[in-house]
Amino acid sequence: MLGNNDTFKAVWFRRDFRLHDHTALNHAIEAIEQHGGKWLAFFYLDPKTASVEPVHHDYFFQTVMHFKQTLKANDGDLYIITGTIEDALSKLLQAFPEIDAVYANDDRIGEGRLRDEAAEQFLSEQSIPFFTFEDAFLTKPDQVLKKDGTPYKVFTPYYKAWAKERKRTPAVIKKDVLISSVYKGTTPDPEAEALFANLLKKCRFDWSAIGEEHAIKRLQMFTKKRLTGYKANRDFPSIIGTSRLSPYIKTGALSIRSIYYHILNSEADSYSAETFLKELAWRDFYRMVHFYEPDCKDREIMKAYRELKWSHDQDELTSWKRGETGFPIVDAGMRQLLNEGWMHNRLRMITASFLTKDLLIDWRLGERYFERMLIDYDPSSNIGGWQWAASVGTDAVPYFRIFNPVTQSKRFDKNGTYIRTYIPELKHVPDQYIHEPWKMSEEEQVKYKCRLDEDYPLPIVDHSKQRKKAISFFKGEDDER
Ligand SMILES: Cc1cc2nc3c(=O)[nH]c(=O)nc-3n(C[C@H](O)[C@H](O)[C@H](O)COP(=O)(O)OP(=O)(O)OC[C@H]3O[C@@H](n4cnc5c(N)ncnc54)[C@H](O)[C@@H]3O)c2cc1C
Repeated sequence: MLGNNDTFKAVWFRRDFRLHDHTALNHAIEAIEQHGGKWLAFFYLDPKTASVEPVHHDYFFQTVMHFKQTLKANDGDLYIITGTIEDALSKLLQAFPEIDAVYANDDRIGEGRLRDEAAEQFLSEQSIPFFTFEDAFLTKPDQVLKKDGTPYKVFTPYYKAWAKERKRTPAVIKKDVLISSVYKGTTPDPEAEALFANLLKKCRFDWSAIGEEHAIKRLQMFTKKRLTGYKANRDFPSIIGTSRLSPYIKTGALSIRSIYYHILNSEADSYSAETFLKELAWRDFYRMVHFYEPDCKDREIMKAYRELKWSHDQDELTSWKRGETGFPIVDAGMRQLLNEGWMHNRLRMITASFLTKDLLIDWRLGERYFERMLIDYDPSSNIGGWQWAASVGTDAVPYFRIFNPVTQSKRFDKNGTYIRTYIPELKHVPDQYIHEPWKMSEEEQVKYKCRLDEDYPLPIVDHSKQRKKAISFFKGEDDER
């Protein structure tokens, strides 16, 4: 029989690639401190995710690699395993029979649920406890509820209750124990390591500022330089006015509690801090919604809108994806997404509104496209954002309040700086026409080096007509479209 000193705690990293304030890791280290033993880190590469190559995987896998290197630099490793979850765990247990418990942070919303249930079942058959911990959010999904125990449907009262909840402070992991007790052995699944290396080779984008150190620096810089102006600047995409922490939050390079307390304890005025923290509450809100509406990736939360006959027009969908709708602000947003795998929040709202209200295209197609492209893709926030824009979700924008892409453009990108950054064809077009290039005369098109329908498309729809159509569509008046 193994003595305590010979046992291993296996820590399963999933969306939490960091060594600070990591709840599962902290529990494993505490157990080692009390009873002795070692810990090792592993990552399960789902063959399903390995076969598709969305942009967000590029970023995600590079973060995983970065974390593997960090562990290697500290005399450890991040072992990659693959196959069905049962096969993968079985390889791990065969390679390391000393494992007496598996620790992980909870990741049961969306697709993670079935995987975790299968893992739990398999591990319990091997008599190995599987300890999971709440980690990635500030509140549990069933923590902030109405007095009658039912979930909130509207954000503002949710937020008031959320703000009163005590948030757990970041755990301080003992670095000396962490490093002295990490175990390094031979890899349990060489095929998985090869598959992972191959995935990295296929990445189309190369991200440099990834991982924990960059994340911490970004947080510090944002708090010092931009938090005070956050409320005033965050809606203007040509200014770097938001934190741009979302990819780090998504990969867990930064713990959400570290962000919360760093902002709360900063020198910024309480109003700015509160404005920012409210955004973190939106994240918890949408996770809560997803928890109570597990089918919301495919189904409208509002029952009244489940039978709407959305368009699936492929040509229009392609124009939207490529940033070729003829509406500069929409196209700039879509091209930012294509080029950077990230898009400013104001643009996410504008482009999602355009797809669903101007083109009346199924919000699910937009959600799936964002899923492929966004390096900060988070199922709950993305579905929440899409159902909000399509007016079919919890606390969504009412269907008759339709974003006008020109008005939005004039208001949030007055001088067209953002538009010109992403649409070089419009570089020479003056401010007067930058939001509505279709108003240029033929001479002006020549003068400003932008011939419509050749260099830059004419609008693919007439907004005012589409607005009326959308309202009729929601009222159930327009079956033909
Ligand atoms: C259609 C649509 C799709 C979206 N898809 C995603 C997604 O896949 N992943 C994602 O993280 N966010 C998503 N959002 C929310 C928001 O656009 C991004 O969180 C934000 O743009 C990230 O930039 P930032 O880190 O600079 O944000 P900041 O303004 O600095 O906010 C800080 C953090 O608060 C959270 N946050 C901010 N706004 C929201 C919001 N509306 N809903 C939920 N959390 C929020 C994010 O974690 C963000 O990183 C979506 C919004 C819309 C309208």
